[in-house]
Amino acid sequence: MTTLTRKEILSRLKDLAGPGGYLEDRVDVEPFEVDFRKLYKGATPLVLRPDSTERISKIMKFCFETGTAVVPAGGNTGYCGGATPDESGEQIVLSLARLNKIRSVDPMNYTLTADAGCTLVQVQEAAEQVQRLFPLSLGAEGSCHLGGNLSTNAGGTAVLRYGNTRDLVLGIEAVLPDGRIVENLKGLRKDNTGYDWKNLFIGAEGTLGIITGAVLKLFPTPRSYGTAMVALRDLDASVELLSMLRERSGDAVTTFELIPRLAMELACRHIDGVKDPLDQPYDWYALMELSCATDEVQTQELLETLLGEAFESEVIQDAALANSGAQREAMWRMRENIPEAQSHEGPSIKHDVSVQVSRMPAFIREATTLVKKLVPGCRVVSYGHLGDGNVHFNLSPSEGDRDPIFLEQAKRVNHAVHELIAQYGGSISAEHGIGRLKRDELAVYKSEAEIQLMRAIKAALDPTGIMNPGKVL
Ligand SMILES: Cc1cc2nc3c(=O)[nH]c(=O)nc-3n(C[C@H](O)[C@H](O)[C@H](O)COP(=O)(O)OP(=O)(O)OC[C@H]3O[C@@H](n4cnc5c(N)ncnc54)[C@H](O)[C@@H]3O)c2cc1C
Repeated sequence: MTTLTRKEILSRLKDLAGPGGYLEDRVDVEPFEVDFRKLYKGATPLVLRPDSTERISKIMKFCFETGTAVVPAGGNTGYCGGATPDESGEQIVLSLARLNKIRSVDPMNYTLTADAGCTLVQVQEAAEQVQRLFPLSLGAEGSCHLGGNLSTNAGGTAVLRYGNTRDLVLGIEAVLPDGRIVENLKGLRKDNTGYDWKNLFIGAEGTLGIITGAVLKLFPTPRSYGTAMVALRDLDASVELLSMLRERSGDAVTTFELIPRLAMELACRHIDGVKDPLDQPYDWYALMELSCATDEVQTQELLETLLGEAFESEVIQDAALANSGAQREAMWRMRENIPEAQSHEGPSIKHDVSVQVSRMPAFIREATTLVKKLVPGCRVVSYGHLGDGNVHFNLSPSEGDRDPIFLEQAKRVNHAVHELIAQYGGSISAEHGIGRLKRDELAVYKSEAEIQLMRAIKAALDPTGIMNPGKVL
């Protein structure tokens, strides 16, 4: 243990972070003390903003020697409080914001190497500049960081076609809790030389080390998109339509998002410029998108043919096809703004759950009946990435109800929904992670052997427990 005083430790950390490398004024530090959803309010004396991997290495070595706890922070858009320090006032926040360079792009190798503090949009744009696609896409892409995406193994809207963040990473550079730098940025698609250690850090939510850079997979940019908002016959039709589209399009379905009527109504009510693209209301919709290497006319024809067949076989009742970039954007705007629209209806009780795609309709029905019994009058908005077997199963209070008692029922409702998801063989956290929010539930829904394995990994990499304490485990 260190003999240095707290003041001496902070002073040394500031030196190690270098000029412009830290924030300590209350007004600058405060945004780092609150998570995006304002569920947690912590305290920190210092936010470090180093501008190189080497500086981070020196900082971590010093933190290791002095037993100083470190909370890595990306864009602070995470939903589980993972980037927020605890209330003790002892934890240091380490922001990656100044480590924000695109290191290299190799269009022939279909790879891009970037610092962890790049925003997701920055990465997408760097790929676009060489006519390549980095397919990770999510509502927070303008502010979330690549390091945050990796650390939460973010999902987003194109998982169906391209996989989660984990599937898009060929290698990473990371700083271990004791300051050592581990790096595999060779950009190889095949490399079976021992344990694939990068996967320990991906999805670890900053509990095993600090990701400082990554080599990402790029893809050919689609030449055309076919986008449609379809009115489904019923909930079961969602799975039937998805399956048929995948089979008949040569697996060109990039996105398949489920949208209930209430979500459509709320988006039209609260989001400027959002309009229902169909003439009459339906119970369930899907926003679906094909992305193809063929030209626009061919893609549009394919989409029309497939949706025509779906209409004939009564899988869908109606469809609006996007005939221009503006119409495509309008459909996406509607989908992306569902969380925002729902927030105008009072607080919501949220779940980010997954089951096998084929079991999703049954789960949604059963869960809806369950929560309506628990919270009479509540309104269920279950929307999202049906193509990945992942919905955001969220409850709003009854119309006009602003009674704070609604949120007091969250724990009970979460527990009941998670019990049900366990019966369905699903996951209590499909894409948002564990952080602090679901830490205690993780222990309930993972087997003892799995928890022991996770603890063993944590102990091996972070023996003194300085990396993001209190999160995940
Ligand atoms: C509007 C909106 C839409 C969203 N949509 C989606 C979605 O579709 N799919 C989805 O999966 N998520 C979604 N999210 C959640 C969030 O954007 C993602 O989890 C994102 O990947 C978090 O990135 P961040 O940089 O903001 O991370 P932060 O919130 O800053 O951090 C998240 C976790 O990662 C750790 N961390 C951050 N950077 C590093 C690093 N360099 N090294 C080690 N640990 C690190 C933090 O300690 C924390 O535990 C959405 C959020 C918002 C606000």
